[in-house]
Amino acid sequence: MTDLTRLTAADLAERLRSGEVTSVEATQAHLDRIAAVDGPVHAFLHINSEEALATAADVDARRAAGEDLHELAGVPIAVKDVVVTKDQVTTAGSKILDGWIPPYDATLVEKLRAAGMPILGKTNMDEFAMGSSTEHSAYGPTRNPWDLDRIPGGSGGGSAAAVAAYEAPLAIGTDTGGSIRQPAAVTGTVGVKPTYGSVSRYGLIALASSLDQAGPCSRTVLDSALLHDVIGGHDPRDSTSLPEPAPSYADAARAGATGDLTGVRVGVVRELGGEGYQPGVRASFEASLDHLRAAGAEVVEVSCPSFSAALAAYYLILPSEASSNLAKFDGMRFGLRVEPAEGPVTAERVMAATRGAGFGPEVKRRIILGTYALSAGYYDAYYGSAQKVRTLIQRDFAAAFEAADVLVSPTAPTTAFRFGEKVDDPMAMYLNDVATIPANLAGIPGLSLPSGLSDDGLPVGFQVLAPARADERLYRVGAALETRLLAAAGGAGVLADAPELETLTDTTEAAR
Ligand code: GLN
Repeated sequence: MTDLTRLTAADLAERLRSGEVTSVEATQAHLDRIAAVDGPVHAFLHINSEEALATAADVDARRAAGEDLHELAGVPIAVKDVVVTKDQVTTAGSKILDGWIPPYDATLVEKLRAAGMPILGKTNMDEFAMGSSTEHSAYGPTRNPWDLDRIPGGSGGGSAAAVAAYEAPLAIGTDTGGSIRQPAAVTGTVGVKPTYGSVSRYGLIALASSLDQAGPCSRTVLDSALLHDVIGGHDPRDSTSLPEPAPSYADAARAGATGDLTGVRVGVVRELGGEGYQPGVRASFEASLDHLRAAGAEVVEVSCPSFSAALAAYYLILPSEASSNLAKFDGMRFGLRVEPAEGPVTAERVMAATRGAGFGPEVKRRIILGTYALSAGYYDAYYGSAQKVRTLIQRDFAAAFEAADVLVSPTAPTTAFRFGEKVDDPMAMYLNDVATIPANLAGIPGLSLPSGLSDDGLPVGFQVLAPARADERLYRVGAALETRLLAAAGGAGVLADAPELETLTDTTEAAR
């Protein structure tokens, strides 16, 4: 019998519809896979077997009764632990929320439930989505299924690793500066950051509200499009939600899958490449440009000079918003409460003790940075200047999109690095997102798909960016490139080159 965990979401959905398999079988197969490999991978923080199987059984019963179901009904999914799930523990990777059980579902979770998608569990992440490696998770890192000594990216390393390790066909991530796209790049999977405001933020534990956006993680471009179609759309409970209904991204992906991009103008962003980018990453990127040319696209170069200041602006805006968003974790309302070891138990002292014990070092660093940047007398010099840079970046994008329909770059400057390599050097960690951050600052959508392997044998991500509200271009161009890459590789995707996880377990056990 086919291994159900190896199917794409689209293929699995097809087999569910035809009655060849049931959702209970598919969900159980993924739970078994999680039981077999998640020890070493550690993609999941919580596994909801009972609830997932109950959803699956319900979908199977409704299908048997002839009910008209959603296209993805019965396809299981993993959800990043920064998204709240009713009656299921949600921690955002932090000790301060250890054991917190939300009383409500995020809008996107409601949509997954309405579509009949069993939620397998919640995935690991850097604490409050701050990081590029999952090493900042309070619950230990996730390991990259390609090499268990290497990082799976971050902050959504758990969602990307779950998909790469065949523990889930689909996952939800969130991307504030690259946390969907960079993990996709270093695990050989697909990840999409939608246009800001096109997927509801209601029920996302906020990191930086003007940058956060939830989106799909998958193994194919079409699968991300199918999931995007489920979670997108207007939500009156999110004040920044776009009013218009979302178009069908799956249609765009299917159109792109013909591999024809005649007349499409592809802009290579000069500032997102070159120095600091690993030679093997650059080579893979160049090879993909050749595929795009062969597909009929016109490849031009564009320049976005303000991008040189993007990282600096991001690391003022993000900590400023985060310091304000994280003020609610005060030991009074949610999760952890720590009383001072000695002296009076005043509200202020409980708050200090709780935050001191509950937050990890990266979170404290950013709270301090953000509080400083927002303080009277510094606002104009730091936060105000960063907002001006943000406007310049938006103008650079606007000009670039005059010359090109989509913009492209490598997603991340390097392939997956080893644990410990960057965790004590914040600047080195921050540089992982140099190519992904401009899109968040401008609110535009971005997709990362695997473009092949670097000379070190590890996967490389290819990033496609489109103007705000033109997410369908990501899927069309992404699917076309995917089709051409598959044809060039004789039909096998990048993940076919990943080692079997079972063969890796022993080495890391020894290394740990
Ligand atoms: N790695 C980036 C950061 O640490 C991005 C985080 C994110 O997208 N959530 O801020």
